[in-house]
Amino acid sequence: MSNQVQVRSHKADKLIERMSKKLTRQIVGSLTACVHCGLCTDSCHYVLTNPDDPTYAPAYKADRVRKIFKRHFDWTGRVIPWWVGAASVSTDEDLEELKDIAFGKCTNCRRCTINCPMGVDFAVVNRMMRGLLVSVGVMPEGVAVVSKDQWEIGNQMGVLKEEYLETLEWMSEELSSDLDDPSAIIPVDLRDADVVYSINPREVKYDPRSIADAAKIFHMAGEKWTMPSEGWDMTNFGLFSGDDDLGGAVARRLYEKVSELNGKKLVISECGHGYRSTRCEGPNWAGMDVPFVMESSVTTMLRYIKDGRITVDKTRNTTPVTFHDSCNNARSCGLFEEPRELLNLVVTDFREMYPNRSENYCCTGGGGAMSMSEYTPQRLKSARVKADQLAATGASTVVTSCHNCVDGLADCIRHYKLNMQVTQLVNLVANAMVVPVRVAAPEVVAVPDVVAVEPVAARVPLCLAGRRILVVDDEPDVLAFYGAVLQDNGATVFEATDGDTAIAIARREKPDMITLDLSMPGTDGGKVFETLRQDTETSGIRICIITGRPELRRLIYDRAVFPPEGYLDKPVDDETLLRNVRKILEVN
Ligand code: SF4
Ligand code: SF4
Repeated sequence: MSNQVQVRSHKADKLIERMSKKLTRQIVGSLTACVHCGLCTDSCHYVLTNPDDPTYAPAYKADRVRKIFKRHFDWTGRVIPWWVGAASVSTDEDLEELKDIAFGKCTNCRRCTINCPMGVDFAVVNRMMRGLLVSVGVMPEGVAVVSKDQWEIGNQMGVLKEEYLETLEWMSEELSSDLDDPSAIIPVDLRDADVVYSINPREVKYDPRSIADAAKIFHMAGEKWTMPSEGWDMTNFGLFSGDDDLGGAVARRLYEKVSELNGKKLVISECGHGYRSTRCEGPNWAGMDVPFVMESSVTTMLRYIKDGRITVDKTRNTTPVTFHDSCNNARSCGLFEEPRELLNLVVTDFREMYPNRSENYCCTGGGGAMSMSEYTPQRLKSARVKADQLAATGASTVVTSCHNCVDGLADCIRHYKLNMQVTQLVNLVANAMVVPVRVAAPEVVAVPDVVAVEPVAARVPLCLAGRRILVVDDEPDVLAFYGAVLQDNGATVFEATDGDTAIAIARREKPDMITLDLSMPGTDGGKVFETLRQDTETSGIRICIITGRPELRRLIYDRAVFPPEGYLDKPVDDETLLRNVRKILEVN
């Protein structure tokens, strides 16, 4: 007989006590209606990739919660617990087991739900259990960190207000320059705008190009639009953590800011859980009547094209693309025809993925899974279903209207070595958009009788004169091009075609700045970046990552070192290169 004494957990007692307050009619319905027919079993990507492990079955997972419900809140379980399989939780180990089910074995994708003839919504039960566990402090570390950032800083990724505003300013400058139009800007906190645009903090941190592309579309559509200086994050970790209080606080911040600006419509950038949280669940969590219209930017872009406010040329997007439906957009909110209509207007070769729409499989990054690193192996194993779906399309690009899915798909593509890239509709629409060429009015210049022609170098000091820049890229053409642009503008340029040489030159020459490719033979750019940052002699050198592999962006920013000063996606033209180098070196 074991001498081990099971210590009763006060957290377990609290969880049971709090459960009584969470039992809505919908949840009780899902806890009582299951007849264990098993029809939902094969709906789940975890089951399909673990066929010999019954603990992944939706009904099995739901039963772990159902047993507690029966033991404490159903008369049958109170009177004849052994008969109806009722069982309580009493120890910290019990709670850990529940945590591993609620967070590690389900992405709350709801695919099992639509395949249940009894209307059981396991995801809603699972979200309740997540919320109860979070309320007693039992959760994956990533969930605690992200929730804290959203509570305290106001967004999921801890982006500071200055960082956000600086990025908008930077993208605004890019837009003016790109369109050669000083009126093309990103307006911030404009009152009475017809559109207030809210984004995912991932766009600020890893994908500012999406902000610039959206701004270009709003500008070309002649929209009276703005972005808020605060309360701009339309994502909501409350949906994933099950914490309704967090959900309400986050949604309220955004609604109040739009109301303060007297915005007519809130447009939500492409994000599945952001759309569901903000448009569908948020008003309930926040307990508010929202006085303005809310829509996905997919709907907005489609309307602009249909109304003739922007013109697109689909022959600019000719690579074969497929579309991944985000579970939250498609299954939970019914947003699946609009993205297809839009895609068919802006690409020439759209290939459907099967199954699709509300039957589509999760990218496996849903339900906040990307933040729970302890479950990464089982997540990636379950991603084989998605990898097979992707590969079967033969497409080279997968489009999705969800930032979470961008990360989930990128991980899946990397893990299963698929030759694909991920993008979003906003990028394709911006690329297909026909921008009329601006014809500048000829300037009338008074010409003096005698013109003394100074040498150009004497008249216009070269903007990078005196600056020392190390250019690192394994492609000789790219190296020569960047080098020429920088030298033509006065910089002294050093060159390296591999990582080890780059580190050696950086240590020896201490340049003012480095442009750094990521994919290189030998020591890759990511390792070079980290090494230079960790070395006190080179840590202060400004670095601009220039890569043709946007999926590596996260790997750079996730490193435990100070982030790079600049980040550009290839191909980069001379103007963009020079503009960014000047910005990073702070030269006029
Ligand atoms: S399909 Fe519905 S009733 Fe059947 S086992 Fe699954 S949850 Fe239960
Ligand atoms: S919600 Fe999705 S991940 Fe969770 S059990 Fe159902 S099918 Fe599986």
